[in-house]
Amino acid sequence: MHSAGLALDGGTPVRPADRPLPTVMDAAGRTFGPEEEQAVLRVLRSGMLSGVWGSEVPALTSEFAALTGAAHAVACSSGTAAVHLAVAAADPDPGDEIIVPPISDMGSVTPVLAQNAVPVFADVDPRTGNLDPSAVAALIGPRTRAVVAVHLFGKPAPVDELRALADRVGIMLIEDCAQAYLAPVRPGDPGGPQVGTVGHVGAFSLQQHKHITAGDGGLVTTGDADLATRMRRFADKGWPRETGERAYLHYALNYRMTELVAAVAREQLRKLPGVIERRRQAAAALAGALGRVDGLRLPADDGDHVYWYLPLLVDGLDHAGLRRYAAALTAEGVPAVAGYLARPLYAEPVLREARTYGRSGYPLRGRTAYPDGLCPVAEELIDRRLVVLGWNENYSTDDVADIAAAVAKVHAAVVRP
Ligand SMILES: *Cc1c(COP(=O)(O)O)cnc(C)c1O
Repeated sequence: MHSAGLALDGGTPVRPADRPLPTVMDAAGRTFGPEEEQAVLRVLRSGMLSGVWGSEVPALTSEFAALTGAAHAVACSSGTAAVHLAVAAADPDPGDEIIVPPISDMGSVTPVLAQNAVPVFADVDPRTGNLDPSAVAALIGPRTRAVVAVHLFGKPAPVDELRALADRVGIMLIEDCAQAYLAPVRPGDPGGPQVGTVGHVGAFSLQQHKHITAGDGGLVTTGDADLATRMRRFADKGWPRETGERAYLHYALNYRMTELVAAVAREQLRKLPGVIERRRQAAAALAGALGRVDGLRLPADDGDHVYWYLPLLVDGLDHAGLRRYAAALTAEGVPAVAGYLARPLYAEPVLREARTYGRSGYPLRGRTAYPDGLCPVAEELIDRRLVVLGWNENYSTDDVADIAAAVAKVHAAVVRP
């Protein structure tokens, strides 16, 4: 067995530093092969690198629509851009409100500010960190225009409930799917609808940390042809290319995807179902190896979790204890982050100090406040419950065994010393 002492305290690490686990930040933890190399060369040799006139971007969007089951897909330059396309398509008036979750990447929220709308934070389900529909319902008012639901860490948010709620009051549901490609939203119906197709728009990311990557890039899905057109134009300066006319129909930016990105993304897309299957197998193997551990909960999985990260819920720790838990895992060779975020998104300077447009504080100042205690469930998760492990489709059986051994060792030493 491994030395009883925590590596953090000078003991022998479960996983020696010269055998790091594969991560999304290195080739060992990615799925790049000769296919991606050929794709890049194919584009370069064609002489056409722009998705406006090239063939790769249109091919990617049809392939992505087919894979997700959406009627339409539009490509863009990042996951944040994808959320921005969706928010712009919701077309809020300045000062309107959009409901967002407190635990996510800031890319779920800053597009709301970019459209001069106010992010309103709803609390989350303590088991998943996903939006709690009853908290969302309580915040809907006359100025609410949309809800952004994040499928946190790869576990689908309750989008059927949220869509019913959105339809009842006539607002848009935006699904931020950056952490949850291809996840089925109805447990027990693996062939049923996937994330990104229940809401009005689904937003996806191809950034380095995601299940598949082209460095940066984004995609949106929608069942609505008008929304698709609006979003395509928002990514292309409001230019209605399909008419052959040079016109700028509304305020819009340039969020276009290049052919190089699309060509790599197309190859990555072919590998995506396998990536998800292998991440799910590794997670099941971890659950099997760990068995029941008092005070430790692995994510609820109804066959629907696609494991962007592997979130652990730990009982019985305070703020410092949770940080020690994550530091101890990292020292054992299993990189872990306490809380996922340092603080809920509303406590970040951009929002709390309204660092937006000049010194105006617009559209936040005087309209909303983001005090501590705004979303107590989210705060507790970040402060003293949640520890996230990077997760990877290339973990071997030995890798998962080491992760399980490290978690068991750290849990025993930190939670019940
Ligand atoms: C990564 C991420 C984003 C932002 O995507 P980028 O491509 O980095 O802009 C948005 N939302 C969530 C939930 C994410 O995980």
